Amino acid sequence: MLPSRLSQAFTRAFTRTLTRVLTAPMPRNLCARAARACLVMSLLALSHGVLTAQPPAPAAVLGHTPGDDFYLADYSDTVRYFHALAAASDRMKIFTVGKSTRGQDIEVGVISSPQNLARLDEYKRIAGQLAHAADLDDAKARELARSSKVIVHIDGGLHASEVAGPQHTMALAYKLLSAQNDPEVDAILDQVILVLWPTLNPDGQDMVVHWYRQNLGTQYEVSPLPMLYQDYVGHDNNRDGYMLNMKEEQVVVKTQLEYSPVIFYCQHQTAPFPARIWIPPFADPISSNISPYVRSWLNVIGTNMAAYLNAHKMPGAISESRYDNWYAGFTDWAHVFRNEISFFTETALYEYATPHFYTVNDFPKDFQDLRALSLYTTPWQGGWWHLHDAVDYMVGGSMSVLDLAAKNRETLLYNRYQAARDTIQHFRKEPPFAYVISDRQTDTPEAGLLAQKMIDNGLDVYASKAGFQTSGVTYPAGSWVIPMDQPFAALAKELFERQKYPDALANGTSKAIDLPYDVTGWTLPLQMGVDVDAVTDPLPQEQRALLTKIDKVELPQVSVDGSGTVFAISHRTNASFQMVNAALKAGGTISLAQDPVKTAQGQETGAFLVAGLSRASVADLARKYAVPALAASAPPHTIAIRKARIGLYRPWNASIDEGWTRWILENYGFDPKSLYNADIRAANLRGRYDVIVLPDLTQKQLMDGFGIGVVPGQYVGGIGQDGLNNLREFTREGGTLIALNKTAASLIPLMSLPVQNAIDGFKSDKFFCSGALLRVNTEHAETPANFGVADEPVVMFQAGPVFKPMPGFHGAVLASYPKQTNHLESGLLLHPEAIEGKAAAVELAYGKGRILLYGFKPQFRGQSHATYKYLFNELYAFDHPPLAPEPAAKPAPTSEPEAAAHPDTRKVDEPEPE
Ligand SMILES: [Zn+2]
Repeated sequence: MLPSRLSQAFTRAFTRTLTRVLTAPMPRNLCARAARACLVMSLLALSHGVLTAQPPAPAAVLGHTPGDDFYLADYSDTVRYFHALAAASDRMKIFTVGKSTRGQDIEVGVISSPQNLARLDEYKRIAGQLAHAADLDDAKARELARSSKVIVHIDGGLHASEVAGPQHTMALAYKLLSAQNDPEVDAILDQVILVLWPTLNPDGQDMVVHWYRQNLGTQYEVSPLPMLYQDYVGHDNNRDGYMLNMKEEQVVVKTQLEYSPVIFYCQHQTAPFPARIWIPPFADPISSNISPYVRSWLNVIGTNMAAYLNAHKMPGAISESRYDNWYAGFTDWAHVFRNEISFFTETALYEYATPHFYTVNDFPKDFQDLRALSLYTTPWQGGWWHLHDAVDYMVGGSMSVLDLAAKNRETLLYNRYQAARDTIQHFRKEPPFAYVISDRQTDTPEAGLLAQKMIDNGLDVYASKAGFQTSGVTYPAGSWVIPMDQPFAALAKELFERQKYPDALANGTSKAIDLPYDVTGWTLPLQMGVDVDAVTDPLPQEQRALLTKIDKVELPQVSVDGSGTVFAISHRTNASFQMVNAALKAGGTISLAQDPVKTAQGQETGAFLVAGLSRASVADLARKYAVPALAASAPPHTIAIRKARIGLYRPWNASIDEGWTRWILENYGFDPKSLYNADIRAANLRGRYDVIVLPDLTQKQLMDGFGIGVVPGQYVGGIGQDGLNNLREFTREGGTLIALNKTAASLIPLMSLPVQNAIDGFKSDKFFCSGALLRVNTEHAETPANFGVADEPVVMFQAGPVFKPMPGFHGAVLASYPKQTNHLESGLLLHPEAIEGKAAAVELAYGKGRILLYGFKPQFRGQSHATYKYLFNELYAFDHPPLAPEPAAKPAPTSEPEAAAHPDTRKVDEPEPE
């Protein structure tokens, strides 16, 4: 060994050299590359011999320390630093676990002692065995828990504007790798295997950091990013936890299943002001489907974290407050149903890496007296808040979790086993004993998709080799069965059952309920329009013998039957739209049957009729999309439909709903073009588009967008009055305008439409529904907008309008909330009487065109597949038949609204009675 002073000097020089070599751009010349490789090898060999535990500090690689004012590392910087660490230390390995939406490698660092890393595969296998309680009894599980290591997931977050998360991962990695003779770190490295993700959203980290760099030092330094920071979903990237629509989410869950961490910890940055960090325990309500081991340890972790932060002089941690975790779809929460202790914290943020000074006068009144609360033990006193403070708090939170995991390793591992064991035993005694999804139903491809989602979420799904009968129902061979005596069964129950949000008002008490933070009902079979049966009798052994575990769902074989040159396919399956769009692309022609024609699903008005393609081509498409076709001769009455030129409004004040809509349309073979403000403000919209979709926006987002001075000039404003006038003209000239949810409410006054939002301005004491599944009645099933829609579909209601036609109404109610019945299928609905008998969706004549107003979310987060048809049906160009007449109209006594000034051939309908 070298003398210590000399050693340190040597270490610094060595680290600089190694870093320079590792981080230099790759030479183009082959010889130079080879020379560099030799140099790296020899430096690394030297490092193993002499300097194992001296990895480079971030400043040596990046020129900055994570948390420096006005500096943010982007994703490639972060990964480059991870690689520099792994190259210099035997405490860290790096793995690529998948690809981001934009195709970047998603990399994770695995940190532990060299001895543990050498046995990583073995520890992963044991973690999986305990998580599944596979081939274990209590004694064997106890022995494994005693002798194995605990795996912990920590990440740098996924909401990219919450910038400290990825920076903290570099600081945390350096702390763990550079510590010498530090008992706390030594114990962590010895007991814990940390899977450290720089971020769950690499693309977003780059978008936000590059935007900040571009604006740094200008008046727009803290401007919001004028786009979604994850392609398609932006901030909703943590609302995809069970649906796994996004690539990043698929990678997260796949990696959980591979590593079986006991703890999943995600970093966020939206602390309730003036607290400096929000930590568990969560506010109520909480799902009863979560294992008690998980529920109680969430609280242990939170209170331990508060104590740890206090002990390290980081005041201002608060618990409970506003964050409930009722919604099962949070990315950093859904793992609880697989018995992982999964949670997040919310550290304070000013903006990006720009510091800010707060005085007590900036605090809300309730906090100005700096009084301690039982779950806010050390009130923050104000002062400067730098990015490095946020990084320090995050490192503190992460260290408290690692320290707790090291000290409770055996208990945590054994609990993971117990949670699995207890779940399996519970569902051997209590129903539901299984869920069954028939592979012959109205929308069989969607049924198959639901079964596949369950597989992707780590559940064991089986296909039945033969038909069978259970709980009085007969199922065909091929049906999918999810027996509940499996370790992650809680997830199936949580997703398949109807949610009953604790509702003190409904229970007749005077206590006001705590209003939910997110949606309250999400029952997947209802959202997807798939029949799933809960089996109430134990599955007999002879039935289980018929079941084969599957990794991939196989849909039933389909064929083209009958003879003729026109091919009828059902309008009731979503995949038919994919097939129709593919047929249009292949040069086929499509029409809609106006009278009932036979499809594989029986007699159907509105069936798609494909013509102009050979039987072989149709058969190829049918197989590809699993949609059966029936050949026949052309029926007499049809409506020809053509590919539409679709514009989807895309505000700079970015809209998550726009992103979801774009993603869904692209997935179903539509070809939407993004319409920015300038496009809508430009003349002749009708010459360029057939259909324009306005996603769910606030009126301010639509009309005004970002204010002057908030963002650089080109991103300022909404569609404005000019854009609105153009939308009016577009529709008068025969275009179709679709407005979703809040935008539908806004359009009523903006375009003087003859309908009223019957719950406009209602507070929660008169009506409340922030995301629940409600049943509606289909009206006018013969209208193309309703083709393929069920008689009583279930819609996702999320703070939208309900409509009441007013004098001068030309059009049709497409769906309505039934009178005197409870519309609520899942979640929370207060004061249902406010919407009884009102319209959920309407189609209005407007000049030569039409406006469709939807008071719900037909495409909610890529989940509500059962109502996609509302949107898809309108995304074709066709000559619409006149809207069906309503019962006799009363004379309209009031002044004529705007639309009435542009009468067309359609019927004037009666206003709704009060
Ligand atoms: Zn967040």
